[in-house]
Amino acid sequence: MTKILEGKPVVSALREDLKTRIQALKDKGIVPCLTVTLVGDDPSSHIYVNAKDKDAKELGIESRTFRFPATMSQADLEAHVRALSQDPKVHGILVQSPLPKGLDEARVVDCIDPAKDVDGFHPTNVGLLALDRPGHRSCTPWGVIQVLKHYGIPTAGKRAVVIGRSDIVGKPMANLLIHKGEFGDATVVVAHSRTPDLQAVVREADIVIAAIGKPEFVKASWLKPGAVVIDVGINRVEDPTSAKGYRVVGDVDFAAAKEVASAITPVPGCVGLMTRAILMSNTVDAAERLSK
Ligand code: NAD
Repeated sequence: MTKILEGKPVVSALREDLKTRIQALKDKGIVPCLTVTLVGDDPSSHIYVNAKDKDAKELGIESRTFRFPATMSQADLEAHVRALSQDPKVHGILVQSPLPKGLDEARVVDCIDPAKDVDGFHPTNVGLLALDRPGHRSCTPWGVIQVLKHYGIPTAGKRAVVIGRSDIVGKPMANLLIHKGEFGDATVVVAHSRTPDLQAVVREADIVIAAIGKPEFVKASWLKPGAVVIDVGINRVEDPTSAKGYRVVGDVDFAAAKEVASAITPVPGCVGLMTRAILMSNTVDAAERLSK
C-alpha cells in the first residue's frame, strides 16, 4: 500500500514544539519578530506574504510586513534591509522573491544579517549548510528532511536523485542528503535541464525529489517500483471544472506515480505546508540564538 505523506501531521507536531518555545521566549520578555518585505505587486507574492503573516500571528510571532512600490531604488531597499538587520527587536528578515526588474536580489540578500536570514539564502548560511555547521537552512529542503524524519523514511545508503539545481531547493536539498547522519548518508545525483536521459537516472533512484517547475513532468513509468517520491513542484494548470479556473499540481504525475511508489507527497498538502512551517521555526531559532 502506498503511503501518502501528508504534511499536516508533520506541521502540527512542529507547531506544538514552537508554541512551547515561543512561550519560553515570552517569559523572558522576548517576542519573536519576523519581517517580510514585499516590493512591487506580483499577485502570487501578495498571497504568499499574507499566508506568512497569518502563520506568524497564529503562533504568537510578531509579524511586520513592509510593502514598497516597484519603483523603489536598490539603495533604498538595501538601506531598509540594513536597518532591519540592526534593529534588536527584529529576529527574522525575509525579502519576498521575485523582486521587480532592475533590483539585484543577491545584493539585497547580502545586506541581511546572517543570524536573521530565516530563508537561509545568505552566502554565510549557504556555506554553513555546505559545511554541516549550525545556521539557517533553506526552508523547503529542510522541510523535506522533516517529512522524511516524521515518517521514518531512511535515507542512509539510499540512492537519491534531486531533479533541479536551484539555489533555494535543488542544491541545498542535495547538500542535506549527503551530510553524515541519520537523515543524510544518501548517494545523491543532482539532475537538471542539461541531464541526458533523465528517465534512466530516475529509474536508479530509491528516493526521487522533484523541484523542476513543470506540471506532472515526472512519469510513473520512470520510477523504480517502491521508490519514495517527494514532489516540491507547485504549478497552476487550467481547469474549467474548478471554480477558480485552475488547479495546483506538482512536478510528478501523482495519480499514476502513487501506483508505483511506496510513499509519495501530495500537491498541494505537503512540501508547501512544510516550507511555511519551517520559516516560523527558523524565526524562533533566530530569536533564541540572538537572545543568548
Ligand atoms: P527553478 O526554476 O529555480 O529551478 C528549476 C530547476 O529545474 C532548474 O535547476 C532546471 O535545471 C531544472 N529543470 C528544468 N527543466 C528540466 C528538465 N526538462 N529536466 C530536468 N531538470 C529540469 O525552480 P525552483 O525555485 O527550484 O522551484 C522548482 C519548483 O518547486 C517550482 O514548481 C516551484 O514553484 C516549486 N517550489 C515549491 C516550494 C514549496 O514550498 N513547495 C518552494 C520553492 C519552490
